Amino acid sequence: MSTLLQALHHAGQPLLDRLEEIYKDFHRHPELSMQEVRTADILAGKMRALGYEVTTRVGVTGVVCVLRNGAGATVMLRADMDALPMAEATGLPYEATGVTATDSDGSTVGVAHSCGHDMHITWMLGAAEILAQQRDGWSGTVMIVFQPGEETAEGAAAMVADMPAGRFPKPDVILGQHVMVGEAGTVNYRPGVTLSAGDSLKIRLFGRGGHGSMPNTTVDPVVMAAHTVVRLQTIVSREVAPTEPAVLTIGSLQAGTKANIIPDDATIKLNMRTFSEGTRDYMLKSIRRICCAECEASGAPREPEFTTINRYPLTENDLKATQQVAAAFQAEFGDKSYLAARPASASEDFSVFGRTWGVPYVFWFVGGTDPEVYASHVANGTVSQIPSNHSPQFAPVIHPTLQTGLRSMLAAASAWLVAA
Ligand SMILES: [Zn+2]
Ligand SMILES: [Zn+2]
Repeated sequence: MSTLLQALHHAGQPLLDRLEEIYKDFHRHPELSMQEVRTADILAGKMRALGYEVTTRVGVTGVVCVLRNGAGATVMLRADMDALPMAEATGLPYEATGVTATDSDGSTVGVAHSCGHDMHITWMLGAAEILAQQRDGWSGTVMIVFQPGEETAEGAAAMVADMPAGRFPKPDVILGQHVMVGEAGTVNYRPGVTLSAGDSLKIRLFGRGGHGSMPNTTVDPVVMAAHTVVRLQTIVSREVAPTEPAVLTIGSLQAGTKANIIPDDATIKLNMRTFSEGTRDYMLKSIRRICCAECEASGAPREPEFTTINRYPLTENDLKATQQVAAAFQAEFGDKSYLAARPASASEDFSVFGRTWGVPYVFWFVGGTDPEVYASHVANGTVSQIPSNHSPQFAPVIHPTLQTGLRSMLAAASAWLVAA
């Protein structure tokens, strides 16, 4: 066991009790993407008190904390801070009730930590404390990054743009973790592709409006959009190889106001998930081809307009670095650490740091479901009914999830920081 994990073990219940209170406070005070002001202030204050060099407002609300501790590797540990624009419905005693905020469209929305990022920052504070207190047990540099705006794919890009070469140490490896449905007490990982790429697009189709009684004088964008929606479904079903996973969902289709008015235009919003760069590029081209061809088929007065809503790159764990993490997990968790069977059809902007800087990265998952509850769902074949991330009922069990994420972060960091 590494010195850091021994120290965590010795810190024991008093540390976990303190972190539990911090977690509940973050949970009760969720903040929307790029608005994490209170959260960032608390984190910056606690990290300064631990002795880190703290820089705030990196990429709007990001916080970068550096601890230099002699020769050796520079390890970057990343946790995301933002909550979601939704109302919580967990019924937990520490539920965030009645929290609202103004989103980027100017609408008032409920806010909840329904993706578990409050757990991520609490894990990180615990790990930061052990690292700061056990400086004689490791050597190297730790750079802890609290990232805003993961849920809108803005935060990592904003931070990277504000972290030019030389401003902070360049990491040798970047590590991150996410709480998800799974037996609490377990961790799982995958070398290579571990999370899908995600692309959201807005496509505006142009027709020519007029009276509903005289369709011959118009170009009907509703019919155009209807054909386009159906034809877009053939990309995954007819064009992508059956062995290649891919998702294309049209989550929004809007046109018109009244039964007897043919509108001028229609708007489609779609989301796409892919697991290889090749399939991603292919599908983006197919979407353009189909939209343009359907507009042409309808006699549209102009080409459709494509706008990127957001873009999450593929999360592709470095093979060698993942081996190092896996060996550290094996030593710490034994059979409670396992290889995930397949990549997850979810997306993250975590990889933006590693991709931009050319640094290997590893991202893994920590189970957050009560072990007994999870076992009964496995026995009944109902695992898919456990409320997942982004459900208003998503509620990681605090113990042993809190301790597990602390152990996994310290175990992984130790693989680079502690001399063998
Ligand atoms: Zn999320
Ligand atoms: Zn998340």
